[in-house]
Amino acid sequence: MALKTGEQYEESIRNMKFKIYLMGEKIDNWVDHPIIRPSLNSVKKTYELAHKPEYEDLMTATSHLTGEKVNRFTHLHQSTDDLMKKVKMQRLLGQQTASCFQRCVGMDAINSVDSTTYEMDQKLGTNYHERFINFLKMVQKEDLTVDGAMTDVKGDRSLPPHKQADPDMYVHVVEKNDKGIVVRGAKAHQTGAINSHWILAMPTISMGKEDADYALSFVCPADEEGIFYIYGRQSCDTRKLEGGTIDVGNYNYGGQEALMVFDNVFIPWENVFMCGEYEFAGMLVERFAGYHRQSYGGCKVGVGDVLIGAAALAADYNGAAKASHIKDKLIEMTHLNETLFSCGIACSAQGHKTASGTYLIDLLLANVCKQNITRFPYEICRLAEDIAGGMMVTLASEKDFKNPEIGKVLEKYLKGVENISSEDRARIMRLVENLTLGTAAVGYRTESMHGAGSPQAQRIMIARQGNLDEKKKMAKDIAGIKK
Ligand code: SF4
Ligand code: FE
Repeated sequence: MALKTGEQYEESIRNMKFKIYLMGEKIDNWVDHPIIRPSLNSVKKTYELAHKPEYEDLMTATSHLTGEKVNRFTHLHQSTDDLMKKVKMQRLLGQQTASCFQRCVGMDAINSVDSTTYEMDQKLGTNYHERFINFLKMVQKEDLTVDGAMTDVKGDRSLPPHKQADPDMYVHVVEKNDKGIVVRGAKAHQTGAINSHWILAMPTISMGKEDADYALSFVCPADEEGIFYIYGRQSCDTRKLEGGTIDVGNYNYGGQEALMVFDNVFIPWENVFMCGEYEFAGMLVERFAGYHRQSYGGCKVGVGDVLIGAAALAADYNGAAKASHIKDKLIEMTHLNETLFSCGIACSAQGHKTASGTYLIDLLLANVCKQNITRFPYEICRLAEDIAGGMMVTLASEKDFKNPEIGKVLEKYLKGVENISSEDRARIMRLVENLTLGTAAVGYRTESMHGAGSPQAQRIMIARQGNLDEKKKMAKDIAGIKK
């Protein structure tokens, strides 16, 4: 089977044996739970669109390993064209889900582990790359969703992993034998783990010799014995328990974040891709972060498209659309959004081939892309809130709209232009609220700040990649300074 259908994907997640805690309770039906379900629908969309002829070019690729057609989320980029198609695919999915569709972390993880294990084997004589390729062939064949797991909980940020008072602040090896290793620790805010089949764990920072036990990369089934999840809350999440379609803003789709705990999990050697090679931890982190910073030039832009559309509709619905300042705000939002897309495309177009044959983005431009993402979506949100007006945060509930007496009052007094119902006006207000303040704000607004690394992480990379010495030399040459 090369491409799973959406239904087959849903069934495969239903058959997992996850251990999940949500609001203090253990959850048995993670597929149909109203708080989780929208996040599954978003990942399911990555399967559904791959079967649509009009999206085939973006959503699928030909595996260079098997020659088979595979979902692009399981593909290793073989050209700059592949890198650009990845970004366009993410924009498409952002437009169709208005949320985080989660599957990119695995795609970015496989691409970074591929080139890193290849170069590690070349230098150290290890055989991690072959193990990784065997894993990837299975992923492609079964069209699996992989959760790339990087962010450790980190404890005291001023101390390296081996100096932490509690050794579990970074995922680490606690036992080694001839069959494999046992790992312990936790990964924070893991995107889409409970909608994934496998976890691909990676180290979270560059490491020194004394941190060798923490220089660790491996795969395991997402429901492996010893792994459990504590589901992360999202703003306004309990509205999903009310059963309506208006107040949630986006009732079909959503994102998902959870704390992933490894409580002495056994990993056989064939699933280990780094174990103690601390000098390659930094390379893996840098490449994964680079790919995921590129990703935001696609997904956030797609969600931004929906937010711009929602703001424009809010103006249409209250009769303000022709005001010149409204038009100008929509132009500004578009300008900002397309600038982000330009960054995603630029770091892809300027990508290059690594030793394994897999293409890597231009790291400087990918970091510039993400640095802009930490700012522009906030301005886009500000302008959307400006255009939407105060009603997006003072609006009565869906139950009031459905109430036979109160509903009539709301229909009368919340009317904007003549041919638009007050309920439709409410739907757009709630969508703006969802994207700027509600559950989707996790995946759009705040994730723009911290996802794929907080702003300072990009500034460090920009400083490292910016080549200031070369720029000084240019200035000296022009100014006629000899030394
Ligand atoms: Fe994909 Fe964007 Fe979600 Fe990251 S934040 S997993 S790039 S949709
Ligand atoms: Fe993310």
